[in-house]
Amino acid sequence: KTFEEMDLFGPIKRALADQNYETPTPIQAETIPPAIAGQDILGCAQTGTGKTAAFALPILDYLGQDKPAALKNRPAALILAPTRELAIQIGDSFKTYGKHVRFQQALVYGGVGQGQQVSALRGGVHVLIATPGRLIDLMDQGHINLSQIEMFVLDEADRMMDMGFLPALKKIIAKLPEERQSLFFSATLPPKIQELASSLLFNPVHVDV
Ligand code: AMP
Repeated sequence: KTFEEMDLFGPIKRALADQNYETPTPIQAETIPPAIAGQDILGCAQTGTGKTAAFALPILDYLGQDKPAALKNRPAALILAPTRELAIQIGDSFKTYGKHVRFQQALVYGGVGQGQQVSALRGGVHVLIATPGRLIDLMDQGHINLSQIEMFVLDEADRMMDMGFLPALKKIIAKLPEERQSLFFSATLPPKIQELASSLLFNPVHVDV
């Protein structure tokens, strides 16, 4: 199936056509339909496979169709990434794929002042893209509340573990609502990652590319 033939919010299809994307990559073809249907995903994929769109398109589809309110400090979707470079890339992808969808996003990562990030959150956001350390700092200060998260993405889970983010991840995950959709991506699935995935996911669709 081409993107045009997929059951995706029209304005997203337009943005993909603007980018000259015609055919979904294997991870996109296998992930997007169940993710749009609300299922949890366990995706085993390297960078360069198109995994960003595999989670960004279902989130944008949801935001386009159901349009939750952009609540101050209370995002509807959270994407966790291990590094600021990756967080920025993900933010750029959301802007590209979501350019015809009306939604607000904020980026939260360390190594820079928090002032701009805090004011972006105050303005109300649907999508929050964050690295774990800064997210926890801002949560502890009351600038972010995760009680309205409906969709949660953990990107590059194995790299997060390698970087020692497991305690931070656990702290964040404990603040998420029980009822949510989770999409979990990792290049490798050693036992420790499997364990984290099973603690997070409910009856996931396993996608391996
Ligand atoms: P990612 O693995 O998400 O970092 O994506 C790798 C690269 O592939 C990015 O530069 C995307 O813009 C591009 N890309 C992702 N999906 C598609 C697609 N279906 N058709 C063409 N290019 C794509």
